[in-house]
Amino acid sequence: MKIISSIDQIRSELWNVKKNQKRIGFIPTMGALHDGHLSLVQTCKKNSDVCVMSVFVNPTQFGPQEDFTQYPRPVEQDTELARKAGVDFLFLPTQEEMYPTPPTVFVDETKLDQVLCGPFRRGHFRGVCTVVNKFLNIIGPHDLYLGQKDGQQLRILEEMVKQLHIPTKVIPVNTFREESGLAMSSRNQYLSVAEKQIAAVIYRALSSTRKIFESGETKTSTLLEHTKKILSQESSYQIQYVQLLRWSDLHETEMVVEKSILAVAGFLGKTRLIDNILLKS
Ligand code: AMP
Repeated sequence: MKIISSIDQIRSELWNVKKNQKRIGFIPTMGALHDGHLSLVQTCKKNSDVCVMSVFVNPTQFGPQEDFTQYPRPVEQDTELARKAGVDFLFLPTQEEMYPTPPTVFVDETKLDQVLCGPFRRGHFRGVCTVVNKFLNIIGPHDLYLGQKDGQQLRILEEMVKQLHIPTKVIPVNTFREESGLAMSSRNQYLSVAEKQIAAVIYRALSSTRKIFESGETKTSTLLEHTKKILSQESSYQIQYVQLLRWSDLHETEMVVEKSILAVAGFLGKTRLIDNILLKS
């Protein structure tokens, strides 16, 4: 595995890869790698010839009250995990490399970010779109691997790639979960063992709602009530939102008649946890 921190160097390394007609897969991450990230590597290795991963805690996607400075940065551990998983190029740029001057140019999706996390994290998706756009310009991958865990991010980046005619295929990867059902997340490190048990209520609520959907209940309000009822079993999980939206445009519909996302966000103590499932009719 080659570890690279300069834009010029990764460009020239990948230039050689592209000359040899190899298919490049790219996985952007913020590090503190866990099995969820590594499942993206596995999928990448199945579909693409060369696997590039970035680890970069992107300042522009954090709000002023968020955990940018506390976000875990275990660089050596990440390097080892990436190497073992079979990453070919690990791109570890500094903040100065990615943002040499204070940024004044941003990529902004203006519709899909009006729901779910958007109103609670103003500017977050602008930061995500901007940094992923930069990475796509630097790396020029054939395939971009993104987790369904961050469903709204996935949907927004799909739209960005489409509308900006970026010649990259977006490949969604299913959410990787702990045995309890808790979606793996770098932020789970903030949780105590007891809190992790409490957090399992999120997936219990989502999967129980999927069950009643699959047995014929398609009314959005009933499905949402059911999710909230189960979430309320753990009063220390403070719900921020529970929404059920059509996947294509993230609009709420009265009945679930096409692919839709059931998404939850909330706080357990100071830790913000999100999760979602797709309902397909
Ligand atoms: P992050 O480091 O949190 O920015 O995540 C980097 C990528 O890994 C994003 O595409 C995430 O959606 C994806 N990811 C994070 N957690 C999981 C998970 N539990 N299962 C699948 N993908 C994940």
